[in-house]
Amino acid sequence: MSALSDLHATLDPSRRSWVESANDPTSDFSIQNLPFGIFSDALNSTRRVGVAIGDRIVDLAVLEGAGLLTVPSSAAGGNVFVRDALNDFIALGRDAWRSVRIQLSGLLAHDHATLRDDAELRSRALIRQADAQLHLPVQIPGYTDFYSSKEHATHVGSMFRDPKNALLPNWSEMPIGYNGRASSVVVSGTPVRRPNGQLKLPDQERPVFGACRKLDIELETGFVIGQGNALGEPVACENAEAHIFGMVLLNDWSARDIQQWEYVPLGPFNAKTFATTISPWIVTLDALEPFRVAQPVQEPEPLAYLRHDGKHGFDIALEVTLRPQQSKQPTTISRTNFKHMYWTMAQQLAHHTVSGCNTRVGDLMGSGTISGPTADSCGSLLESTWNGKNPLELKEGGVRAFIEDGDELTLAGWCQGDGYRVGFGTCVGQILPALK
Ligand code: MN
Repeated sequence: MSALSDLHATLDPSRRSWVESANDPTSDFSIQNLPFGIFSDALNSTRRVGVAIGDRIVDLAVLEGAGLLTVPSSAAGGNVFVRDALNDFIALGRDAWRSVRIQLSGLLAHDHATLRDDAELRSRALIRQADAQLHLPVQIPGYTDFYSSKEHATHVGSMFRDPKNALLPNWSEMPIGYNGRASSVVVSGTPVRRPNGQLKLPDQERPVFGACRKLDIELETGFVIGQGNALGEPVACENAEAHIFGMVLLNDWSARDIQQWEYVPLGPFNAKTFATTISPWIVTLDALEPFRVAQPVQEPEPLAYLRHDGKHGFDIALEVTLRPQQSKQPTTISRTNFKHMYWTMAQQLAHHTVSGCNTRVGDLMGSGTISGPTADSCGSLLESTWNGKNPLELKEGGVRAFIEDGDELTLAGWCQGDGYRVGFGTCVGQILPALK
């Protein structure tokens, strides 16, 4: 039996788990998914590696300790699952990720009795998600954010420059990006404080200092580097996906008024550095394989270093909701799909490294705001309210031009299979008032 056929079996839509909640067709965490994260719980405050299955988390350190899970030893030593970040596990390489995926899929399959019928071990190895705390899944050496949705770039270019020439000439030739701030990437659930900064009001010559008045989201995904490249050694586009461990949801919080004043000529700075929220579970590229689709047609044909054969888009449904502090019901403010993205993750990584720039295990690459072709598929309030001119109506009354204090923003994302989902869970953040 080859390793690839074992890997293929983990994607079989008919595979079911003895963890009943994983078989719910609306569960993000089917047995086909098996995303990795870092968790702790009330009984054990040690942070460790877990895999989500239905409404549970599998404690990989417990399974390894019981001899049910084997991983190749690493340069960093054993016990890669008793860590406060996934980096040491990821650094073991793709064969190790796949081996763990194959072993877990087998152990959790409905007809596999070893763990299913061992009540004592099961009670130690399976933790309720409701009882656990999820932490930032990786230690992130560097964070880069791209600008790769044609619809988003067209909207922004039309708003601030010229609707007839919305895209700058370089946009169709390369995935535009900037170096972001890794230190302020936080895990879902972490409150986000409204930033203070320089605001340039249209009727005044000089800026004022104060709280951001145009606080916004950016609906994005991010990918996590699983295999770095050495300084001076670019990653070829054809080979770039082999360097990716997996994907998360990412909210690139943005202070539009600070951004508009500061971004010329070097791009965003304080408008983006105050926080970036990611979802706690990293969905592996292996789990996303059945949802691969063709990327949009690229015209003009990219330069040779940005070419790759085959399909490099992914069909990931995305949704954003906004819930004011006093409201029970959230309002859906966007529905879109990752498949609309013009530049692929492989092209982003090839472009990022073509200069010789190195990447490291755990580096985070933001997709750029994901907007779709329809009015309700904008990935930012900047676009959906047209810079605040057309506020959105909320379900329980009231309107929003931009985010207000106490508002809770939630991103959700999932791939829809036949009777099952490969989901990302949620990426949540509530806004705290600015410091006085
Ligand atoms: Mn962004």
